[in-house]
Amino acid sequence: MTSASLLLWIVLGITLQIALWLGISFWRHWGEYQALRTGVGSDGGMAVPVKETLPSASEPASVAAWSGFRSFRVDRKEIEDGAQSICSFYLVPEDKQPLPEFKPGQFLTFRLDVPAPDGHTEQITRCYSLSDAPHAGFYRVSIKRVPAPAGSAYPPGRSSNYFHDHVQVGDVLQVRAPGGHFHIDRSDAPVVLIGGGIGITPVLSMLNWCMAEQPGREVWLYYGVRNSNEPIKRSHLEALSATYPNFHLRLCFSDPLPGDQLGRVYHHQGRVDVALFRTELPLKPYHFYICGPTPMMESLVLGLEDWGVPESRIHYEAFGPASIKRSANPTAVEPVVATQSDIVVTFAKSGKQIPWQPGMGSLLDFAEANGVKVESSCRAGSCGCCQTTIKAGEVAYGHAPDFDPEPGSCLLCSCTPKTSVTLEA
Ligand SMILES: Cc1cc2nc3c(=O)[nH]c(=O)nc-3n(C[C@H](O)[C@H](O)[C@H](O)COP(=O)(O)OP(=O)(O)OC[C@H]3O[C@@H](n4cnc5c(N)ncnc54)[C@H](O)[C@@H]3O)c2cc1C
Repeated sequence: MTSASLLLWIVLGITLQIALWLGISFWRHWGEYQALRTGVGSDGGMAVPVKETLPSASEPASVAAWSGFRSFRVDRKEIEDGAQSICSFYLVPEDKQPLPEFKPGQFLTFRLDVPAPDGHTEQITRCYSLSDAPHAGFYRVSIKRVPAPAGSAYPPGRSSNYFHDHVQVGDVLQVRAPGGHFHIDRSDAPVVLIGGGIGITPVLSMLNWCMAEQPGREVWLYYGVRNSNEPIKRSHLEALSATYPNFHLRLCFSDPLPGDQLGRVYHHQGRVDVALFRTELPLKPYHFYICGPTPMMESLVLGLEDWGVPESRIHYEAFGPASIKRSANPTAVEPVVATQSDIVVTFAKSGKQIPWQPGMGSLLDFAEANGVKVESSCRAGSCGCCQTTIKAGEVAYGHAPDFDPEPGSCLLCSCTPKTSVTLEA
């Protein structure tokens, strides 16, 4: 064999090996790319195996949820932020019986008797997210004081200010069992938790649970606030980030104080947005859990969808009425609006019979616009205040409300008529 042909064989051999290596690499990456695109990796369990976590010894025993309201005593009260506007309340059951386990991200519903301007008391209902992982003996909620809108003559927020100013250690409160569909799954899929302002509460519960139960799980927390006066549990978050290499803390300040040093006090200047995720997050099938002000959630949900994150991996909760029109499935979060003009809504107690006008929003909006007095609070399907008996006809929900209405009744804030209906209101 001549040296020229030997060289030719060597070159041919090397070329074949490179081609083989390239082919295998391409095949592997194509599989991963397809899994990321379709979401099969995390949702279907093919590319990224999803492991169920077994209940651990530190979880509270399995106890059935109570129905109606249960008495809880305030055991501890703690101001959480530099601005003194967020206060945590630790609640223990008056009956000293075990507490049912909740899913991290769920909330409690409180019935309060607050002082009214006329000197009497007024009963109101409000929801507050559980802000810590489940513990055997207590629940914790963290409440932000809501001021009156700037320049308005309205009174400040009734429930939040009542909690801050009147609820003291030893007081007894009426509380409904934990509820809500916004909670983290138990798989080991990587997660991105996003909390804007007081929207940190449910994602803080998710984070604490993950770190306690799934310390190997990859978790990112993007916490958006204005400056160093506002974050709650900052030293706790920093300690978690120093302890768990899989936990990535990102404090984002939109309006830092002169002394707030980037890189030392916070990690990113500006709002939490998808552009930031694109620069920081590796390409993985993350699940996103978002809670914050409506504009933030709107821009994040739509931005994530534009980025190609499947709808099934974007989870969010608003602390009030918010409907985000999702590009992937616009009807998923909006009430189904009946289009037939011959639908009539009868309000039995009020003695009113009114033709339904599509485009008026929910049955609650419709009732109020027509002078029918209905009790309401969150207007988001969470608190159950606007539950009303359906005497005849059918209603339709755009999305399943957090509060399960009793059979034969509906949540006016979350539904529209499907046929002509008679409501006991
Ligand atoms: C599922 C869920 C979880 C939640 N979790 C938390 C949580 O963890 N922490 C938390 O702090 N909050 C949470 N919230 C929000 C909470 O439930 C309350 O909505 C919030 O505390 C405000 O209630 P309020 O009674 O203090 O204010 P409201 O009395 O309801 O007043 C709200 C605002 O309206 C203004 N206002 C008063 N009267 C009028 C009027 N006539 N016209 C216009 N404006 C008026 C008030 O000045 C105030 O700014 C959650 C809500 C939901 C639905």
